[in-house]
Amino acid sequence: MISFYPGPSRVYDEIPTYVKDAHKKGILSMNHRSEEFVAISKKTVSLLKEKLNIPESYSVFFTTSATECWEIIAQSLISENSFHVFNGAFGEKWFDYTHRLVPGAQAFPFDPESKLDIRKLPLKNQEVICITQNETSNGTEVNNKLIAAIKRKNSRALVVVDATSSMAGIELNFKSADVWFASVQKCFGLPAGLAVMVCSPQSIQYMKSINEKKHYNSLAFIHEMMNKWQTNCTPNVLGIYMLMRVLKKRKLMAHIHQKTIARAIAWQNFFRGAKNLKLFIKNQGVRSLTVLTLTGNPERISEVKKLAKESGFLLGEGYGELKPTTFRIANFPAIRNSEIKKLMQFLEKYK
Ligand SMILES: *Cc1c(COP(=O)(O)O)cnc(C)c1O
Repeated sequence: MISFYPGPSRVYDEIPTYVKDAHKKGILSMNHRSEEFVAISKKTVSLLKEKLNIPESYSVFFTTSATECWEIIAQSLISENSFHVFNGAFGEKWFDYTHRLVPGAQAFPFDPESKLDIRKLPLKNQEVICITQNETSNGTEVNNKLIAAIKRKNSRALVVVDATSSMAGIELNFKSADVWFASVQKCFGLPAGLAVMVCSPQSIQYMKSINEKKHYNSLAFIHEMMNKWQTNCTPNVLGIYMLMRVLKKRKLMAHIHQKTIARAIAWQNFFRGAKNLKLFIKNQGVRSLTVLTLTGNPERISEVKKLAKESGFLLGEGYGELKPTTFRIANFPAIRNSEIKKLMQFLEKYK
């Protein structure tokens, strides 16, 4: 079965080898306070910086999931208010969780078909601005230029970005915002259970000024431990090891970015003019490069998903309320060109 699910998604073919190596090398029962773990942790952070172009001055932390990052941000980086800009289910869920911890959290939903108009954002002395860079549920993105413009106009606020389904798939300009996070079961091509959180010097300084220490995963503790290349609790050592191995082999981000764009364009062209399966997002300017959403009548959608499965392709279910009328196709780096070709051949009959 070839998985085109946008998370958990197809993993790199080398993963079984890395797991065997980890077993041989004793990594599966490695102590997370040992010198050996520290070496792996340090190497993984330096590879993340090198391969994803993360500025040297930024801090990198390991967490368990993007959802945990939402919570860490709510408890450790927001004291009074946050402003959530979103157009889909993930951004909304992030707002909902934050709102329970921070009553001053504010929602700013916008139309998935329109480009975010930053002149219309009612921002005034905002503490933290939360943006979902790639909305996995509907296949839209807020591009890097917009994120940079929001930061420029609100330089004292922290701009915090959920890049779960785009980090490692497209080039992100980390300098243009303060906090970026992603779990590894999407564009990193790894099994679930690990996430990375990238923090600017400004966000670390702000975290220190709040100095929240009420939780096992308070950012203050995570930061303190990472100064020694360690984690606040026993981490997913195997996940970190596999991340290190995958990154070592990885091409530079500029190369991967070009490939992601070329494939996104190929997919969009493939569905251009299709009668039964249409691109869900009409405005090309806001379409995600890593997650493609198709729409059609519910019978056709469920038939295509079923027949695809019988032919060895796992398509992504529509998310939330979009479930009956859409399906999704991941455009993640671990998917091979030959697999995309095969899926296109299959879909030819039904589009
Ligand atoms: C998948 C996803 C999440 C949730 O990730 P977990 O690792 O399951 O916590 C959050 N935000 C976005 C945009 C996602 O695509």
